[in-house]
Amino acid sequence: MSLRTRLTLWYSAILLIILLIFGATVEVAVRAAINGGVDYELQVRLQGLESFMQNQIPRYPRARLAHQFEEHSVLRPGGETMQIADREGNWIFQSDTIRSLHLPAADGTAPGRPVTLTVQGIPVRVRSAVVRVNGEPYYLQLATIMSASYLALDRFRRLLMALIPLMVIAAFAGGHCLSSRALAPVDKIIEDARSITFQSIARRLPVPPTNDELQRLAKTLNEMMQRLETAFGRITRFTADASHELRAPTAFIRTTAEVALLAPRSSDSYRSALVDILVEGERMTKLIDDMLTLARADAGSSELTLSEIDLSKPLREACRAASVLAERKNIHFREDLSQREVSALGDSDALRRLFLILLDNAVKYTPSEGKVEVGLAVSKTGSEVLIRDSGVGIAVEDLDHIFERFYRADKARQRDTGGVGLGLSIARWIADVHSAQILVESELNSGSTFRVRFPKPNSPPTP
Ligand code: ADP
Repeated sequence: MSLRTRLTLWYSAILLIILLIFGATVEVAVRAAINGGVDYELQVRLQGLESFMQNQIPRYPRARLAHQFEEHSVLRPGGETMQIADREGNWIFQSDTIRSLHLPAADGTAPGRPVTLTVQGIPVRVRSAVVRVNGEPYYLQLATIMSASYLALDRFRRLLMALIPLMVIAAFAGGHCLSSRALAPVDKIIEDARSITFQSIARRLPVPPTNDELQRLAKTLNEMMQRLETAFGRITRFTADASHELRAPTAFIRTTAEVALLAPRSSDSYRSALVDILVEGERMTKLIDDMLTLARADAGSSELTLSEIDLSKPLREACRAASVLAERKNIHFREDLSQREVSALGDSDALRRLFLILLDNAVKYTPSEGKVEVGLAVSKTGSEVLIRDSGVGIAVEDLDHIFERFYRADKARQRDTGGVGLGLSIARWIADVHSAQILVESELNSGSTFRVRFPKPNSPPTP
């Protein structure tokens, strides 16, 4: 069932309940008003009759009283419906109309408030009273036939019963029409959103200038599409960069093998071709490994297990590997690590990889005779690993981008350094998992400093 039908049904059901309550209340109120008017009239008649009785009964013998009351009943309005009985229940007077109704005689047990009785199918409002004249009680009853008033009330009720369904049907039709109009912009948004595909992901929904829920809906959907476009762009760029990076080594391997096979060669020549192929193969393996790491990180499937570790351990291991590389390039490598344990919450293997990426970069981007320093400091808020080099440095405009995937500040140098621009992306992911921050300071041609700040174990992560 569509939202508009459900809304209209709810609305109509509520309206039906309201109309029924309204109808019932009006009927009760009108009935009370009619009865009230009649009761007042009965009261006035009663007072008139009472003073008449006080006046006439002492003056006339009982035999004449019927005649006197007859006169009174003819002259007074409403007099045709009255009856008076004595203490024993004998009728002193009964008007014609009331006699034909056969009203039960008042016996003095229920005087006071008027009541509505139905006698012979006719509604009658009856007021009973006991009047004492010279100490003698007389039971009298005054009545008003309510047929005409109640008939009007009945007609009114029937009219209401016929009108209520008609009103509800009219309200249903009107409500349906209104909700269709109100929800038409939602249909438009649905239609527009449906027409946006991955090919046209840059398109946005038109935002109505209505400053209401529909405007918020369109804006929210547009913001969501912006996020999707950004993520989609990243994936497309990553795939394009990855294919591009893989094409060069595959082409190199194929060409080297083809050239080697063109003509018979010496075993040294084959060997040299194979070594080239092996080196390129290793480079490819590393590239594929790095891509896999990032793909798993994106998918959230590469979970690291963080436990209390000694931070200096993975750092020392990374330094050992980096010092060999530095020695090969004739770079002065200095590590200043305290002997005591530095506790942190982390994954040793991942942290070793993070430090190695930074140290490898420091050695890679520092010319021979340069310096690479490693430090580890502990403060109240946590611990900090510092890796400083005296290398080529990073230009200010590149600093914001070096953590992006496949970003290389100096693209020309890529083949000699062997990097493809994924190292720092992996480093940042590992740091993020450890709630650590990587800070970079660098000056072109004078060197760079990378700091990795770890929060104290059990302290809240830094924003
Ligand atoms: P790569 O594999 O190219 O080293 P990274 O993601 O590790 O990729 O680094 C991205 C870029 O950041 C590098 O290409 C380089 O230009 C720059 N960079 C990283 N570390 C340093 C450093 N210590 N000195 C100078 N430039 C650096």
